[in-house]
Amino acid sequence: MGTGPDVVVVGSGFGGLGCALTLAERGLRPRVYEALKYPGGCASTFTRDGFAFESGATLFSGLAEHQLFGQWMKRHRMDVQVSWLDPLVELRAPGLHLPVTRDRDAFVARLAGEAGPLGPNVRRFFALQRRVADALWAVLDSPELLPPFSARALWAHAARLPQYLPLAGLVGRPLLEVLDDHGLGTFTPLRTWANALCQITVQCGVAEAEAPFALATLDYAWRGTGHVVGGIGRLADGMVRAIRAAGGEVCFGERVKGLERSPEGWRVTTTRGGATAPTVVANTLPADLDALVGRSTPALASLQDAVRTGWGAAMLYAVADAHPGAPASAHHLELVADATAPLHEGNHLFVSISAADEHHRAPPGQRTLTASTHVFPQALEGQTAQRQAAYVSRVQATMKATLGELAPEWAGRIRHLLPGSPRTFQRFTRRTGGYVGGIPRRAGLHHYAQLTPVQPAERLWLVGDSVFPGQSILAAALGGVRVAEAVERSLRN
Ligand SMILES: Cc1cc2nc3c(=O)[nH]c(=O)nc-3n(C[C@H](O)[C@H](O)[C@H](O)COP(=O)(O)OP(=O)(O)OC[C@H]3O[C@@H](n4cnc5c(N)ncnc54)[C@H](O)[C@@H]3O)c2cc1C
Repeated sequence: MGTGPDVVVVGSGFGGLGCALTLAERGLRPRVYEALKYPGGCASTFTRDGFAFESGATLFSGLAEHQLFGQWMKRHRMDVQVSWLDPLVELRAPGLHLPVTRDRDAFVARLAGEAGPLGPNVRRFFALQRRVADALWAVLDSPELLPPFSARALWAHAARLPQYLPLAGLVGRPLLEVLDDHGLGTFTPLRTWANALCQITVQCGVAEAEAPFALATLDYAWRGTGHVVGGIGRLADGMVRAIRAAGGEVCFGERVKGLERSPEGWRVTTTRGGATAPTVVANTLPADLDALVGRSTPALASLQDAVRTGWGAAMLYAVADAHPGAPASAHHLELVADATAPLHEGNHLFVSISAADEHHRAPPGQRTLTASTHVFPQALEGQTAQRQAAYVSRVQATMKATLGELAPEWAGRIRHLLPGSPRTFQRFTRRTGGYVGGIPRRAGLHHYAQLTPVQPAERLWLVGDSVFPGQSILAAALGGVRVAEAVERSLRN
């Protein structure tokens, strides 16, 4: 091989970072081009007017020592600290205050207690939920189980068959049916919690969510989930340092403008020049990869159609004075204004608040808040700028009303407010249309037909949350690992 990179990775979201770090660990030379001056994409920390805000994602799993990020942090001695918050999240809705404690049994016992005569049903539901979560999280915790088509992985899966048995009656069904099977479809605390959690993980509510995926992600709080001290960008920075130390390169402020076939593989044109490389991995939306190559690929077009069934985000980035009872730790509020209405467009907010001692994020006595809600980018497509602005400000007015009603201790103390919209995400993550969060896992068997890495052309791969397992930081990073393994195999052959 020559002196240039072995692999160019377009973008330093967690899919790109996971891929590049794995390639570098295996002795290959990846070069990452990132359009922005900092890494992480939807899961980054940005600074504005001296305050540091989480741009989108705030809380994530896989940080425990035996899990993917935990292992990377240890192996590369990353200077990253995790705060294991308790409660991890506080769910608030009118008449409901439900702290999601780190102690899963205590959380289940509390819900069972509130369910009165349905208490045993709650326990039965969570017993099933745990079996499904144990079966599916093993896959997220052990990248070698994916893709399930190598001899080693098939052997491991065969040995685990008994653990997959509970999935048999669940595949292709929405989670609400499973709640109904247990007589719990109208038990408001459980349904509201599950609905809100499914919306932010599998990207749809319980009435639509594919049961196995939904049951697995209900375990979200109990799978090595924590707060990265200083902001999520610290982990992204740690990954960049690890890639460089292992022999890879990361070039910031350098956008990839085009990809062209060349005798060496691909000619990559960037805003500062570019490179040729045998292989390219794109950490982009499917349509944005097609645009870089300058043609439409059927595999990417159909994937992009699925992405367009998903979401954008509206944001409020705020600085507030800490209220007298504010916990010193970072904390997270999930707010639902009306539990009977759809959980988007400001009716449902995920609010993350910085810790008292994160002084580089806000000065003493103040905190930064990142609040997000789901919106429909399709409602904005083809609209005039004026109509787009009207839609976004309507959603943001609802966000402020929800915050005022359910978190008045913060809403009443806001000093600075920066709004964000799908256009903001389009600009800073280069995701056309501002689609974020991946493809919703609405009930259906089609999800199980799309488990392999996506390779739209020879030596060209896609990573990120549009490809399986997708949809979260951990899943995007894991997808990066499995693509790196496939790339390594192809380059060594
Ligand atoms: C509001 C919000 C809240 C979320 N909350 C959570 C959460 O709490 N927990 C969780 O696990 N997940 C959460 N998610 C989901 C999670 O953040 C994403 O699924 C994940 O971070 C996506 O990673 P990705 O690899 O797809 O890359 P992206 O985040 O899309 O990053 C892509 C990167 O590539 C760069 N890029 C793109 N094109 C080019 C180009 N041509 N040249 C150079 N660079 C380029 C971009 O600048 C960007 O930095 C949230 C998402 C949003 C939007």
